[in-house]
Amino acid sequence: MDLIARLRAGLPGEAILTDPDVTGAYATDMASFCAAGTPAVVVLPRTVEQVQHVLRTATALRVPVVPQGSRTGLSGAANASDGCIVLSLVKMDRILEINPVDRIAVVEPGVINAALSRAAGAHGLSYPPDPSSWEECSLGGNIATASGGLCCVKYGVTAEYVLGLDVVLADGRLLSTGRRTAKGVAGYDLTRLFVGSEGSLGVVVRAVLALKPAPPEQLVLAAEFPSTAAACAAVCEIMARGHAPSLLELMDRTSIRAVNDMARMGLPDSTEALLLAAFDTPEPAADLAAVGALCTAAGATQVVPAETAAESELLLQARRLTLTALERVKSATMIDDVCVPRSRLAELLDGTAAIAEKYGLTIGVCAHAGDGNTHPTVCFDAADPDESRRARASFDDIMALGLELGGTITGEHGVGVLKKEWLARELGPVGMELQRGIKDVFDPLGILNPGKLF
Ligand SMILES: Cc1cc2nc3c(=O)[nH]c(=O)nc-3n(C[C@H](O)[C@H](O)[C@H](O)COP(=O)(O)OP(=O)(O)OC[C@H]3O[C@@H](n4cnc5c(N)ncnc54)[C@H](O)[C@@H]3O)c2cc1C
Repeated sequence: MDLIARLRAGLPGEAILTDPDVTGAYATDMASFCAAGTPAVVVLPRTVEQVQHVLRTATALRVPVVPQGSRTGLSGAANASDGCIVLSLVKMDRILEINPVDRIAVVEPGVINAALSRAAGAHGLSYPPDPSSWEECSLGGNIATASGGLCCVKYGVTAEYVLGLDVVLADGRLLSTGRRTAKGVAGYDLTRLFVGSEGSLGVVVRAVLALKPAPPEQLVLAAEFPSTAAACAAVCEIMARGHAPSLLELMDRTSIRAVNDMARMGLPDSTEALLLAAFDTPEPAADLAAVGALCTAAGATQVVPAETAAESELLLQARRLTLTALERVKSATMIDDVCVPRSRLAELLDGTAAIAEKYGLTIGVCAHAGDGNTHPTVCFDAADPDESRRARASFDDIMALGLELGGTITGEHGVGVLKKEWLARELGPVGMELQRGIKDVFDPLGILNPGKLF
């Protein structure tokens, strides 16, 4: 029996897509310039048993499987490989439980991040990890990429919220990891192993996620700086003095202009850097005043605290639009996510500006500055081979600089296809040997998302 016939034996007809015009649309995530193959079929299961059937079929026929969520990934990690089964989890999108006593949510992988935030909010709770793509990205994708977001500087990243998982393994067995209790240390932490594994170890079909009490509404302050270095100095002061902002974000001049061009937000586009700091404390105005004073001392030319939650939301919208706005500067972008200790942030930004000049390119930077996590975005014309070559070279130089400064090549977007040549440089030979060993234990035939990570 061939692949499609075998799949049909355990899946309803509407869950199997074979028309190449349709399946082609599932070939890439948002890093569309990364290499991608042509899928043989796209399947859209609705139950755990259907996912198990897909994996058993794939193992029997030795066919690669590429799990996909909403395909907002920025590293090519969800890109199809030739002849693969694209396993899209978007139809498994039910919130199964919200338990205010245990402060957990139990979800299927296709639930959209913002949908869980809203559902938790109705119980006076919150699910803090908030990637800028939160209205589109799935929780399964967030788990598989260990996503971060704007408020992670105070509340931490996805990894800190994943308590337990149900995972379908490459051979179709169902594994339950972790717990739904507040504590638990039984055995190796397999849950954490799956977080950030980019679909290469198993398919997440259910997750137990920790919830927090909903914080008060946050107020945002915008501070303009004559240089990114001055803005970074303010970030260091804010953190060194023990403040706990609920976000601390930076936009450079290129980013500010791109957002204004796209959305006419009226941001101050003659300034070199805009720092957004927010507090969701009981007295946010007092915290903003203290942080505003630190910004002024670090050289801010203008400090404007928002007075209402609506004004604050507008500033955050501008920040969330930045990557999309930078994508419009040229025909293509390569979005980096190098993360350095925040004490080295200024060096990374100055170095990135020097790299842009060296290669004659526009590189806009926005950053989760409080985390030291930057998004240098190389804007280039994909139809121009020389510019494309320079874009890739500048992208590589930024990763080399990040490592030199004691950082990591990826703070939150993952390795995927985009950064796989760089993984060994960060992890070293011993680290790589163990990583490959782990992959072999979970996926001895190498059918799960091949060509990603390694
Ligand atoms: C405008 C924009 C802003 C963004 N901002 C942020 C940000 O602030 N922070 C951040 O961290 N990221 C950000 N991202 C990147 C992206 O949204 C995240 O990486 C997100 O977690 C991907 O989720 P997804 O559902 O789209 O997953 P996909 O892109 O579909 O997949 C991502 C990876 O997860 C795997 N996967 C998906 N579902 C499963 C599953 N159920 N089981 C096993 N593996 C699975 C895939 O194989 C792939 O390796 C942004 C992207 C865009 C376009």
